[in-house]
Amino acid sequence: MSISFDDLGLSRELLKSVEDMGFEEPSPIQALAIPPLLSGRDVVGQAQTGTGKTAAFSIPILERVDPRNKAPQALILCPTRELAIQVAEEIGKLAARKRGLFALPVYGGQPIERQFRALAKGAQIVVGTPGRIMDHMERGTLRLDQVFMAVLDEADEMLDMGFRDDIEAILEKTPEQSQRIFFSATMPPAIMEMAKRFLKDPEILKITQKLLTVPTIEQIYYEVRPHQKMDALCRVLDSQGFRKALVFCSTKRGVDEVTAHLQTRGYQSDGLHGNLAQPQRDRVMGRFRTGGIEILVATDVAARGIDVDDVDAVINYDIPNDVENYVHRIGRTGRAGRAGSAFTFVSAREHYKLRDIIRYTKARIVQSQLPTLRDVTNIRTTRLLDEVRAAMEAGALERYTALVEQFLDDESTSMDMAAALLKLLMQREFGQEQQQDSLSPAENQGWRERHSDKVAERVYGRQSKFSGKRGQGGKAERSPMLRLFFNVGSKMHVAPRDLVGAIAGESGIPGRSIGAIEIHDRFCFVEVPEHLADDVMAVMNGSQIRGFKVAVEKAVPKS
Ligand code: AMP
Repeated sequence: MSISFDDLGLSRELLKSVEDMGFEEPSPIQALAIPPLLSGRDVVGQAQTGTGKTAAFSIPILERVDPRNKAPQALILCPTRELAIQVAEEIGKLAARKRGLFALPVYGGQPIERQFRALAKGAQIVVGTPGRIMDHMERGTLRLDQVFMAVLDEADEMLDMGFRDDIEAILEKTPEQSQRIFFSATMPPAIMEMAKRFLKDPEILKITQKLLTVPTIEQIYYEVRPHQKMDALCRVLDSQGFRKALVFCSTKRGVDEVTAHLQTRGYQSDGLHGNLAQPQRDRVMGRFRTGGIEILVATDVAARGIDVDDVDAVINYDIPNDVENYVHRIGRTGRAGRAGSAFTFVSAREHYKLRDIIRYTKARIVQSQLPTLRDVTNIRTTRLLDEVRAAMEAGALERYTALVEQFLDDESTSMDMAAALLKLLMQREFGQEQQQDSLSPAENQGWRERHSDKVAERVYGRQSKFSGKRGQGGKAERSPMLRLFFNVGSKMHVAPRDLVGAIAGESGIPGRSIGAIEIHDRFCFVEVPEHLADDVMAVMNGSQIRGFKVAVEKAVPKS
């Protein structure tokens, strides 16, 4: 039975913040450390980076310090400026709903005068490197007499860097009865000695590292800037043509955003996270199992229940925060003797996480370059030609050969015709946007609009394949589209993804064949290929979207 943040007795504000940050449940170190820390006990915690240790000590700090008192009440010592900044940022996010609480990072390399001013303005929580904290103490610009919580973060690292004397001098200056908390990835004797000297009857907590066996599957990572991830995801999906892929995000919001984006681009995808009711989850899982969904986007927690054997690939859209999650995630593919691959997106700031994963798992994770748009086109062309070859080898083409003979005249050769057919097929398959960035300005625009609660929104997805919106210059083959009127709109919380999902799900037409979607308050317009319009109307009339009974009819053409 796992514990929830509610069970830890947190304030409303903190519960809301962890929800905002997308944390679904406390990590093991948080579940273990938060209760004793809230009750004021000293703690020694053995936990590596990525286990959620920062929040484990920061949440109790935020619950216990007094926002009305501007003097430093909690002190956190970190080995490096990067970590100090990171910790202060995480505290800032956790404190978003608590008014008047500030965490100030204080480190060498930043002009000390700026820090004087910031300290003079007041911050209840000071996060700093030992050298610079000592400096401020000596200058009298930082007083520790009101500190009642003192934390060593990555204590082993600080000792390795030769900070032992500084740390001890600083701890000496904190009030004797203050609560002291040591976090460290390893527990060398020096730390236990310091704990004996400075801590009173500490609770000793340890997150035992389970034996991690990494499956022998192909593991690749790509360096991707955060804002390019969506584009990168589409390239990976397009170039590989997976039948079943599992995409992992670290937050619920991430799952929703990636799912919505994939759906508006016409992928058969859906999301799974802790906010979904059980029947909804079961439905999503059922569709993933039977192939109705090709790409499932999930958080780690939601993915625990996934028991599907034939997942071709796992894509770590967000790199997992801890090593165990990496192993669990990639263990979803390559099952039952099948081939599988794992792809991980890593930004420059996240490289340390990748290093940890490689260090602890000894996995071979190889860097690769993202396929370019040309690569994607080439790969898909090769795949298409392979299919053509297979169809030729399978034979039974007599009916078609007859059609070709009938068609050809003195002017054209079968080579011309084959080339023309290939051109049409490729335009239908890949569309013109293969030549441009797959996150087109129109889609970006749609994305922004959908998030700004506009009355009307217009989204052109990849699915506008037949809509004639693409292929400027009129080169693309166009199948005529018909505009349908639906009696549901944004007031009923209907978003493009709901429409694409419902229409594709109910009628079985591919999501990508759905064209432009225009949502108004109480109605919307959806373009579908004309020859499928009657089928779509037949199945959609009387069905439900977001609990509303749907009525569909052909839209009155704009005059
Ligand atoms: P840390 O071990 O403190 O470096 O945390 C690693 C990452 O995990 C940070 O990006 C945190 O925001 C994130 N994190 C911390 N607690 C949780 C949680 N309960 N659920 C999901 N992510 C978390």
